Amino acid sequence: MKLGGRPGKGDSRVLALKAQQPVAGNELLSQVTERCGVKVQECYQCGKCTAGCPIAPFMDLMPRQVMRAVQLGQSDLVFRSSTIWLCASCQTCSARCPLEIDIARVMDVLRHLARRQGVKPAQTDIVLAHDLFLGSVRRLGRLYEVGLVAGLNLGTRRPLANVLDVGLPLLLRRKLHPLPRRAGGAQIRQMFAAARQRTGTSQRGGSSPP
Ligand code: SF4
Ligand code: SF4
Repeated sequence: MKLGGRPGKGDSRVLALKAQQPVAGNELLSQVTERCGVKVQECYQCGKCTAGCPIAPFMDLMPRQVMRAVQLGQSDLVFRSSTIWLCASCQTCSARCPLEIDIARVMDVLRHLARRQGVKPAQTDIVLAHDLFLGSVRRLGRLYEVGLVAGLNLGTRRPLANVLDVGLPLLLRRKLHPLPRRAGGAQIRQMFAAARQRTGTSQRGGSSPP
């Protein structure tokens, strides 16, 4: 998996974020606010979110920079970043923010907006994993682990990755079930239908609908 990498001090994207002033008619900020009600405009760049983020060393935009880019309406920068896909939704940032800005929730909304707008994700294998996971839960009511790994391996053109060293021992110890099993049925279908209705997405569209 190709990771984003921390931007350098001279990174032009970061300098641009520092120099610019918030713009009127900021569509990205409006969309984020409308979808989750989080007041990103209140962020004053203290950096506590970034300091606590366990994934920050691998991100191309720090969490506080994502907040700043949203304030500036820089949707291209945000949607094309690795950060929104690398974010593990651990919520450490949200818990640390002195203004109680729910950064993790904003990341979730940004992922969803990026998918809806058809932006090619910077982390295609992570997006593939999201889609396989949701597809399995939608069809079966639960995760079919073997199917997820097979789909991921085929999608990333590494057909034998983790098969002999991880998958096979787990199968032999009966920690993995070789065949798919169903659960939840009607309840799961209702849940997906409700999410689609709420967000206006198609069955395959987007991951983690907000
Ligand atoms: S902790 Fe909160 S106020 Fe500080 S930079 Fe992060 S989002 Fe902004
Ligand atoms: S929720 Fe995402 S951005 Fe926030 S601390 Fe966790 S990994 Fe970092």
